[in-house]
Amino acid sequence: MKYDTAQKREVLKTLQESPVALSAHEVASRIEDVGLSTVYRLLSQLKEEGLAAEQLSGRVRTFSYLGGCSHHLHASCGSCGALIHLDEDTSRRVQAILKEKGLELASDCLIPCICPECQERRKA
Ligand SMILES: [Zn+2]
Ligand SMILES: [Zn+2]
Repeated sequence: MKYDTAQKREVLKTLQESPVALSAHEVASRIEDVGLSTVYRLLSQLKEEGLAAEQLSGRVRTFSYLGGCSHHLHASCGSCGALIHLDEDTSRRVQAILKEKGLELASDCLIPCICPECQERRKA
């Protein structure tokens, strides 16, 4: 068994290298010698630290890498799990619209969307 910090680095690296969001199962299957319960624990730690975001893809909870991205909002595709980084101008505008309603969007929140590629696939 490896130490916790090494495993945590691997979990983070696995998320970072994946273009789409991964479930805890998928993360665990890509790392050697790590149990699913450990992956769950590390993922929730990473989430608390703002390094990973959790979202619901269909009925599965998945995770994406979010390191160094606290200054703008993110959307996630509910179909393919892609993480979309919204530029700061768009983020500010979305925040401003919600603020008019007295709402504040958490910086680690992922806005559920369907990405342009998946919209094209749906049309085809
Ligand atoms: Zn980002
Ligand atoms: Zn998509």
